[in-house]
Amino acid sequence: KPPAVLFSACLLGDAVRYDGGDNLQVHNAIRIWHQNDCIYRLCPEVAGGLPIPRPAAEIIGAGGDAVLDGSARVVTLDGSDVTPAFLLGAQRTLAVCQQNNIKIAVLTEGSPSCGSQRIHAGRFSGSKTAGQGVTSALLRTNGIKVFSQHQLDEALLCWSSLSD
Ligand code: SF4
Repeated sequence: KPPAVLFSACLLGDAVRYDGGDNLQVHNAIRIWHQNDCIYRLCPEVAGGLPIPRPAAEIIGAGGDAVLDGSARVVTLDGSDVTPAFLLGAQRTLAVCQQNNIKIAVLTEGSPSCGSQRIHAGRFSGSKTAGQGVTSALLRTNGIKVFSQHQLDEALLCWSSLSD
């Protein structure tokens, strides 16, 4: 059985973003994984109980790792604390990975859940900073390799090495 790959659902065209949109990607790697029937799709924020659409949220603090250790919060533009939903979504995503032996995830860059290299800076100004989202941080802590949609070639190489 080929190795499974977890995807941010919005990258596959599911309209689950905070604004009701998606981030559909077209790429050879995705075609190959579809052919191998090895893709799992999930939106951590929806899995955590948040609605579509929902207010934009950003991490106030140093990023997903700090949210996991309790030293940062995730808040919406109007000031609501949505940290519990983000943590629940991350835990449910990790559970899906562990139940299905998933070692590779392709998650949406820039998101406070799914970002893996860059996230919004927590000022709702559009500015971004180096850092990762809550789900990416939890998956990586548990040994899962997280790539963004800008690293699909790299993710495919990693998948191929696991397939050998
Ligand atoms: Fe996409 Fe992740 Fe945001 Fe859900 S939480 S809409 S999967 S980027």
